[in-house]
Amino acid sequence: MALIVHKYGGTSMGSTDRIKNVARRVAKWHDAGHRIVVVPSAMSGETNRLIALAKEIQSQPDPRELDMIASTGEQVSVGLLAMALLAIGKKAVSYAGWQVAIKTDSAYTKARIQSIDNDKVNRDLDDGKIVIITGFQGVDDLGNIATLGRGGSDTSAVAIAAAMKADECLIFTDVDGVYTTDPRVVSEARRLKAITFEEMLELASLGSKVLQTRSVEFAGNYRVPTRVLSSLTDPMLDIEEEANSGTLISFEEDKHMEQAVISGIAFNRDEAKITVLGVPDRPGVAYHILGPVADANIEVDMIIQNQSVEGKTDFTFTVSRNDYQRAIDVLNGTREELGAASVTGDAKVSKISVVGVGMRSHVGVASQMFRTLSEEGINIMMISTSEIKISVLIDEKYMELAVRALHKAFELEKA
Ligand code: ADP
Ligand code: ASP
Ligand code: MG
Repeated sequence: MALIVHKYGGTSMGSTDRIKNVARRVAKWHDAGHRIVVVPSAMSGETNRLIALAKEIQSQPDPRELDMIASTGEQVSVGLLAMALLAIGKKAVSYAGWQVAIKTDSAYTKARIQSIDNDKVNRDLDDGKIVIITGFQGVDDLGNIATLGRGGSDTSAVAIAAAMKADECLIFTDVDGVYTTDPRVVSEARRLKAITFEEMLELASLGSKVLQTRSVEFAGNYRVPTRVLSSLTDPMLDIEEEANSGTLISFEEDKHMEQAVISGIAFNRDEAKITVLGVPDRPGVAYHILGPVADANIEVDMIIQNQSVEGKTDFTFTVSRNDYQRAIDVLNGTREELGAASVTGDAKVSKISVVGVGMRSHVGVASQMFRTLSEEGINIMMISTSEIKISVLIDEKYMELAVRALHKAFELEKA
């Protein structure tokens, strides 16, 4: 008997018929003798609908109140799934995060999980129940509901699996695993049977939304065996076959794994670039530009500072598109004090990254990437690299073309 956490995303929970299918799949795993905790997302589109409602009232919604609203989608899902299980004769109980309790900090809309109390859940499991817990949310020290950021149900599931020392966390979604790139953009993308934790962390943090980045961090820090697989197959699919399907997040670069130099391409459409022109080039420039941006809780990603000409330099960095206007406003506020000539920006840029642990032992990946983009006539605005990834910033209108060209150039469709 194993303890297994199942997570079902929005599409998987998208209608009452789909929820009935989830119930049949979950019941199949329970009937096989396992202890099962299920973490569902809100029904697809529901979180967007709730956030849009909030914005009709307040264009910049109050974060605490927004979480109060956005967290309700999952509360509906868990109740419906519990009913679907009861209707087919299984013992089941649903809980909101605060009832468990899943404790978070108070960073509303992007809270982090701090602790999870297992007692109640374990008692229910001992009692033969299937336990269903809302994804995406917890409760802070003051008793306020806090959500974990978009896509946060992945993190809820892996964190619960870690806290309960589950044998496995199965992330059921609308694709049958992790692909070399988003299969909705490149139809030739190939499913990976396994991917190292390090590569998955890079892909997620560079924009592959198949897993929320923090869920991969939890999987790595607590060594939670995690698998991404399809929820859209026949729910009565043979359990052994299902248990080995999809993509396993592996913690070792073992010999049996596919040894590609590049394992995947991630992209992020949600980027914006800001340039501060004509800043006096003296010690403290970066600090004086980026300090106030950080104080405004805006995360900065890629950064370049140009060579100085006659004691003046230009400084360019990227932020998330959501933070673009706020960052421009902050800089316009400090521009005079900085002695900068002007602040400009471009919110129509995208970041594309090639990722692979094999890059460590191979040279020439960067030049192949740059050659491919140059052959397509695509201009590179910024570059950043680490041991296992190379990212470039380009005009957003060439994003899909660039991903397809790079996928082909690195022959990622071939096993
Ligand atoms: P869920 O609602 O189940 O959490 P998401 O929409 O958050 O599902 O994530 C699944 C989606 O991630 C897929 O439909 C796919 O379009 C996208 N995706 C992006 N990159 C990848 C990738 N490398 N492999 C698989 N799917 C990817
Ligand atoms: N429902 C939340 C969202 O849409 C959380 C999730 O789906 O993982 O972002
Ligand atoms: Mg998701």
